[in-house]
Amino acid sequence: MIAACAALIAMVSCESENVLTPQENSIEKVEIPVPEARVIELPAMDKIDMPSVSSSRGETLTASLHMAEYLSADGAAAMGNTVFFNNRGNKQLGADFVPGLQFLSDGTTDVTYYVDQNRPSNDMSVEASTMAINGAMNTWDNVTCSELGMTEVPYDGRPTGLVAAFFGFGGSFNYVADVTHNGWMPAEFFEILEPGGSNFILGVTFTIIWQDANGNPVDTDNNGKVDVAWREIYYNDNFPWNIGSTFDVQTVALHEAGHGLSQAHFGKAFLSNGNGKVHFSPRAVMNASYSGVQTAIMQSDNAGHCSNWAQWPQK
Ligand SMILES: [Zn+2]
Repeated sequence: MIAACAALIAMVSCESENVLTPQENSIEKVEIPVPEARVIELPAMDKIDMPSVSSSRGETLTASLHMAEYLSADGAAAMGNTVFFNNRGNKQLGADFVPGLQFLSDGTTDVTYYVDQNRPSNDMSVEASTMAINGAMNTWDNVTCSELGMTEVPYDGRPTGLVAAFFGFGGSFNYVADVTHNGWMPAEFFEILEPGGSNFILGVTFTIIWQDANGNPVDTDNNGKVDVAWREIYYNDNFPWNIGSTFDVQTVALHEAGHGLSQAHFGKAFLSNGNGKVHFSPRAVMNASYSGVQTAIMQSDNAGHCSNWAQWPQK
């Protein structure tokens, strides 16, 4: 028995030495291509009374669902895709906030956020998940390149979720804040985005934009980006959630809030056949899939944030 164990240990150590030879690692590292954005046709929204505002020119602008960006559990399946909602043939454009066109000006040019506690995770107290989300928002708030401030709209029981309401999961079409963390949703919600999505989408951020009376997205500051009305963040309760270990709420909240603050995915993904794992270069909060606890922003995250916000609140 002792002899058999010794032989087994020798075999295992021999195998792991083979896996770790540098030559093999470099040969088997394969870049994973970025998937093309999908388009989901929406049913007619005519019967829904979507929120609206008046532009500075007196034009009535109506809220409309524009795009969704999701974070994958790991890189093996469909990774970090972008979904556009399109019933007008509009181009697949990025989107950002415009000072003064924020939904309800609170007299400041801060971005407001709200953590909805009506949809807690099955895995932890709503106090614990809310604290983790607030930690993530503070991390973005502490980036020093910009005048941008983040103001929390205190939770007061109000329901949120235009997207949830639109797809029949309850919620509210009403605006509550510029970036809302809407809470944890059942598997069925994520199947709308991708077949099988409930098994690989950890979190998703939806961008709701302004469109004109003809249904065209507006770009009032002419920067080539569609004007954001607000953003909604949902977490997948089909996964086990945690604080400080996989799947860490603050890590995913930090990534989704990055989308909430107009950043896209960043970093190339590589598959190492030696161990079948996905690696990112550079590793960043805005990588398209989860790769462990990551609660500090990296250089590329900082640069991406600053390119969007350094000029704020100038247009
Ligand atoms: Zn993402």
